[in-house]
Amino acid sequence: MRRQANPIGELVLIEQIRRSSRRRNASVVLGIGDDCAILRPPPGYELLITTDFSLEGRHFRRDRHPPESVGHRCLARGLSDLAAMGAKPLAAFLSLALPRDIATTRSGQQWMQRFLHGLHALGDRYGCPLAGGDTAESPSSIAGAAGSGLILADIILVGAAPAGKALRRSGARPGDLLYCTGSLGGAAAELATVLTRSSMARIRSGGAAGANAAQHPHLQPEPRLATGASLLRRGIATAALDLSDGLSTDLMHLCTASDVHAIVDAAALPIHPLAAIQGPTPALHAALHGGEDYELLFTAAASTRMPRSLAGVPITLIGRITRRRTGQPVMTLQHPDGTRQPLQPSGWEHFSSTPH
Ligand code: ADP
Ligand code: MG
Repeated sequence: MRRQANPIGELVLIEQIRRSSRRRNASVVLGIGDDCAILRPPPGYELLITTDFSLEGRHFRRDRHPPESVGHRCLARGLSDLAAMGAKPLAAFLSLALPRDIATTRSGQQWMQRFLHGLHALGDRYGCPLAGGDTAESPSSIAGAAGSGLILADIILVGAAPAGKALRRSGARPGDLLYCTGSLGGAAAELATVLTRSSMARIRSGGAAGANAAQHPHLQPEPRLATGASLLRRGIATAALDLSDGLSTDLMHLCTASDVHAIVDAAALPIHPLAAIQGPTPALHAALHGGEDYELLFTAAASTRMPRSLAGVPITLIGRITRRRTGQPVMTLQHPDGTRQPLQPSGWEHFSSTPH
């Protein structure tokens, strides 16, 4: 279907985006402005590509999330996927469907400016320029049902890793130990606050520039690029992935891909302070099932001497990998009193019948 964008609005928007994206890095030979971008990966590297949707009403709310946070989180999700595989970012591409008012009203343009500011502030820190994208008008009515169009943003990240060395989900072996970076449950805890706060102004002050992931794990998560690259360089991770959907769901992915069983030590989980203040039971729930922490989950041979931190990010031993037996649950949660229970994947899942 031919899009019905207002050509002036579209050109104004693309110009706004182009002006905001002056940065380059050595791999971007040609950025925004032509039919394609041209990238030149470093010799001996493979390309890694990941795409992630940020959908209004699903991943963010315009009345709750500061635009800087929406831009930051949009890029952070893709960067975190690159981090999980030990890749370094080369360039980002952004497909936007925007309601007409974003292009035509002053407040809409301000929203866009602040969104781009949040996105570029994070991209600049990791040398990841915006090198292209697409812009279309998001329809304000479908089959006669009027409404205001939604903001839909699809980010595509291109990264590079030394050929054959990218970290995968599939390499965990029985006997390996299970680790995570940083702390867990903070993003879910902050999200609950963001959704219940009445005043946008208070959120704005909370999510302002200069804030960081430790204070704002939901509004400004920090992709663990340096830690992922360090794991790759040292060759110590047997499997890795990022914690986007929640530990229970993401660990399930690792176990399935590696065909192993995992035991998680509940007492060992590094709980984020924002989750910890909710009390032990909700804190454990947030750490196990709360999504969007964007920490790394990885395994390493038991013989590996694991540093306490990698690239300045704490590493915590949270469990171990054992052989998978038929009829046995894929994951087990071990409590401090020694009791064990099956751990069900209960993190975020689109189209699941039970909303979390
Ligand atoms: P084409 O019609 O040839 O696909 P466009 O007019 O859509 O080109 O885009 C012109 C240039 O602006 C391209 O380089 C494209 O990558 C860039 N661009 C368009 N939309 C975006 C966006 N949302 N983010 C970044 N770059 C964009
Ligand atoms: Mg073209």
